Amino acid sequence: MSRGELVEIGGGFRVPDVIASCGATLVEVGTTNKTRAADFERAISERTGALLSVHQSNFAVVGFTQRASREELARIAAARGVPLLEDLGSGALIDLGQWGLPHEPTAREAVAGGADVVMFSGDKLLGGPQAGILVGRALWIDRLRKHPLMRALRPGRIVLAALEATLARYASGRASSELPAMRALCEPVEIVRARAERLLSSVRALTASPSLSLSPSIARVGGGTLPLAELPSAALALAPHPSCPPLTRVERALRTESEPPVIARIADDTLWLDARTLADDDVPLVAAALARALAQPHRTNDTNTPAPLPPRDDDQDDPRDG
Ligand SMILES: *Cc1c(COP(=O)(O)O)cnc(C)c1O
Repeated sequence: MSRGELVEIGGGFRVPDVIASCGATLVEVGTTNKTRAADFERAISERTGALLSVHQSNFAVVGFTQRASREELARIAAARGVPLLEDLGSGALIDLGQWGLPHEPTAREAVAGGADVVMFSGDKLLGGPQAGILVGRALWIDRLRKHPLMRALRPGRIVLAALEATLARYASGRASSELPAMRALCEPVEIVRARAERLLSSVRALTASPSLSLSPSIARVGGGTLPLAELPSAALALAPHPSCPPLTRVERALRTESEPPVIARIADDTLWLDARTLADDDVPLVAAALARALAQPHRTNDTNTPAPLPPRDDDQDDPRDG
């Protein structure tokens, strides 16, 4: 495995630790930024059980970088008679490039490119239930299926039903419009903006909100898949105003006093509610939650500067927030 792919994914899971806990010996090849096919060729021996390639899901290496291609690794593995295992991470099934996103290798490409076993998550880009999915050559998949651990790891019927419903959207070409995660990634910015406009008029119908406006914004895809990718988006932007409670209080009321909780963020002295991750059905709920949060009693001389507010039980770590 390349030294450039020794990742820790969410929840503190570290690929080297996972491998060690299987009883396998991890042999690192190459360097953090550059690993060539020749590095694998040099390290391979009669004790090699597999070549492993892991998606750099949560970080990016920029500058002078090099990776061995999947095709090169497949050739080296085949020459030795060992499988090439590829941990694809998020599990794109369709090419995101068609929506202007960075290209994310798909499971189909990985199999076609020569990976013998391709592993990916059911709940990241795929947009389905938490599950680990393995695809690849029947020889290896059959061996895995017959392994005693499979009994403990196999999913139950609820997961399978949710996965089937998710995959049916892909099969019928409706994934990008009907799966929430895919919809949020693929939706054209004009549609996001129209939703933000509906949200703004719904809030204005409920409360006077002089410092609330519509603003272009940048949405980040985030870790687990495209750690650096940014999407053009549209948001409601609430600026501080004497007639409105401090932004930190509005943010907290949205998060802790709304059902369901509404997660906004504060940046550049503005509270942002991005419409990209809102479903159309959420608009009235979010509008009502924001109107309630804005209606909190407050002193007109409250500011966004941390004030000597009484500490609260639910906020021990930062009593200034609020
Ligand atoms: C997310 C991720 C996993 C784990 O996926 P699950 O969501 O736990 O199934 C494994 N490897 C990589 C590279 C990942 O990004």
